[in-house]
Amino acid sequence: WGAGTQDGVISSSRTTTTTITAPPSRVLQNGGDKLETMPLYLEEDIRPGIKDDIYDPTYNDKEGPSPKVNYVWRNVILMSLLHLGALFGITLIPTCKFYSWLWGLFYYFVRALDITAGAHPLWSHPSYKARLPLRLFLIIANTMAFQNGIYEWAHDHHAHHKFSETHADPRNSRHGFVFSHVGWLCKHSAVKEKGGTLDLSDLEAEKLVMFQRGYYKPRFAADMCFTLPTLVPWCFWGETFQHSLFIATFLRYAVVLHATWLVNSAAHLFGYRPYDKNISPRENVLVSPGAVGEGFHEYHHSFPYDYSASEYCWHISFTTFFIDCMASLGLAYDRKKVSKASTLSG
Ligand SMILES: [Zn+2]
Ligand SMILES: [Zn+2]
Repeated sequence: WGAGTQDGVISSSRTTTTTITAPPSRVLQNGGDKLETMPLYLEEDIRPGIKDDIYDPTYNDKEGPSPKVNYVWRNVILMSLLHLGALFGITLIPTCKFYSWLWGLFYYFVRALDITAGAHPLWSHPSYKARLPLRLFLIIANTMAFQNGIYEWAHDHHAHHKFSETHADPRNSRHGFVFSHVGWLCKHSAVKEKGGTLDLSDLEAEKLVMFQRGYYKPRFAADMCFTLPTLVPWCFWGETFQHSLFIATFLRYAVVLHATWLVNSAAHLFGYRPYDKNISPRENVLVSPGAVGEGFHEYHHSFPYDYSASEYCWHISFTTFFIDCMASLGLAYDRKKVSKASTLSG
């Protein structure tokens, strides 16, 4: 943190929360007219070494036609199969066992937390720090997600913040709801081009993240995402294989994907903007429960270094509750929180 950028005290306590006040020249303005002279976005990063998750208003799309779209057909096929399975799972809901529901719910939250408490606030924005047991839990949860791993997720997410609403943003909501919702199925060439300019050296220095990147095996991730959640209800409380596969696995996975994708689509298109009407992300309370607390997206794009990704606390965010519980156990610390005075200034 640079001098003069905070009014909170960083104590040596493992459970401390650092409160940050944005510098006076860069406080939020609740009106478009002041924004031209007082940009919302921090030019001077308050976290040393982290630069590329802050919006860069100087980058704009080039004139002329849109860059070429590259379709990732493997993902298109896998997603189509998953959704067919999930639809069939809906027809089996009335005959599903109670414990299978509980299991599905448990797996849903673990899978969601890998992003909302791990890949997003811990590794993409560094807005809090975690000790080894928590990092291990989150990296295992991330592997259950059957995505490309934390490094790739953080890379795309940095591009989403830094080049927000341009062709270089993998989730560019200017292309509409469907594109931003499942935008990772196809990418504009600008994503690759500008993505190569991002600095992820802080992640490259993280042994655990690079270990996952180096040894990531799609087969193992598929087992964590599909085989394990199917086998547990089938083996432990006599659920039918069909119910285990189509409800606890396919339906549960499809629901968690859509809930998190809504942050990129609905929370960029629908909702109110109390902080800055010039940016697209919105405050969308309806997105928040499914996304385990990530619906307050205008706030998050304005203050990506706030560990709760919202201006609220436990009552609206299970993720914040989870991180705070981890902090009380000494597993999370140095949680960064933007002071209310900063968000209301101007
Ligand atoms: Zn966003
Ligand atoms: Zn973010």
